[in-house]
Amino acid sequence: MFVHSLTNIAKFNVMHKACPVCNERLEPEPGFYQGAMYVGYALSVAVTAFVFILVFVLDIQSMWLPVIIVSAIMVLLIPVNYRYSRVLYLYMFGGIQYSPKTD
Ligand SMILES: [Zn+2]
Repeated sequence: MFVHSLTNIAKFNVMHKACPVCNERLEPEPGFYQGAMYVGYALSVAVTAFVFILVFVLDIQSMWLPVIIVSAIMVLLIPVNYRYSRVLYLYMFGGIQYSPKTD
């Protein structure tokens, strides 16, 4: 789905126009992936909730430590969040399904 590796920070967002294996269009309509930011938001909320639950369980008394940890994780996970939100959005609303057969 993506042209470059996840570790290529400068070009992690470049996508193929169509699947190189089955030639399925990866952008069903212009602006399709605008909705993916809501999926990315949900993923960010999940990570934030996980960190704050961890802070509660570990009984960390600092107020700023969780904020700093969440901020660092969010910055580090920008490429992962970007890609997973697009993939999940395409699967949910793109009208395509994974099929192991590539006739
Ligand atoms: Zn394909």
